[in-house]
Amino acid sequence: MKPLILSIEDDAQMASLLKTLFEISEYPMIQARNGKEALRLFLSEKPDLVLLDLGLPDLDGKEIIRKIREFAQTPILVLSARSEDTDKIEALDLGADDYLTKPFSVEELLARIRVISRRMEQSGVIPAQTIFVNGGLEIHYEEQEVYLDHKRLHLTPLEYRLIVLFVSGN
Ligand code: CA
Repeated sequence: MKPLILSIEDDAQMASLLKTLFEISEYPMIQARNGKEALRLFLSEKPDLVLLDLGLPDLDGKEIIRKIREFAQTPILVLSARSEDTDKIEALDLGADDYLTKPFSVEELLARIRVISRRMEQSGVIPAQTIFVNGGLEIHYEEQEVYLDHKRLHLTPLEYRLIVLFVSGN
């Protein structure tokens, strides 16, 4: 299953390029233009992967890594124009998972996202299959719906996450 990507990017051209790229590659994605919006979307939408530009107008990208890592292990792929090694190392030390320097090739970006997705599937963070069936229990991951004996359960997002975590054995 493809991860929901939160793209944090203040540059309008880059943001629209990423939007097009993920539409074509059929990745669900949401976009934030600044740090505050990014943190708000992170909390409300619970993305599976964060694509982060380090240079943002309101918050330093590294501050966002620090804040997210206070309570979540969501993979963070840093995308930045800064090529200095110190920024790269600092971002990785703060808990970023990977780093791409602009300008980057879209093929390389997609390849890195596939690597992160595979890692998440292997660790059960995101499910590999789209439907899980066990006895009377059915989970439709794409629609985020759960059925018990063919009846749809009305779950809160947290209850849904707990069931998914439970069946993935984590
Ligand atoms: Ca920027």
